[in-house]
Amino acid sequence: MTHLQNISLPGPTITPITKPFWEHLKKGVIMLQRCNTCEEWIFYPRAHCPHCFSESLRWEQASGRGVLKTWSIVHRPGNAAWKPLAPYVVGVVELKEGPSMLSHILTDHSNLAYQQEVEIDLITAGNQPLPFFKVCEEELN
Ligand SMILES: [Zn+2]
Repeated sequence: MTHLQNISLPGPTITPITKPFWEHLKKGVIMLQRCNTCEEWIFYPRAHCPHCFSESLRWEQASGRGVLKTWSIVHRPGNAAWKPLAPYVVGVVELKEGPSMLSHILTDHSNLAYQQEVEIDLITAGNQPLPFFKVCEEELN
């Protein structure tokens, strides 16, 4: 887990539905919701399955790995707190389990490629670890 120095971020908005996701990240564990009816993985956390509308969901450990679908290089952050890190990369990662996650991609922008294999690298700013991604060092299986 890396800690960002000299940066003060507003942090995520934690609700009763998203709280388990954020609490598990504090223990270094990536947990996603999974539907008890159709077995699909779900992200972002919600009260019902977006595939079959079942309200019977559970939390299950996920790989924290995926592939890069698209990305953008941010030169002018929407929130001033991110200015010390600019320019930085924000991308959409298709997780191995299926859902997509929007997050920071920690890499040199010149190395990025469609379907690049990435994995979660927890970055702490304040007291909440955030699920950023870094380029995978080993092959996905
Ligand atoms: Zn379902």
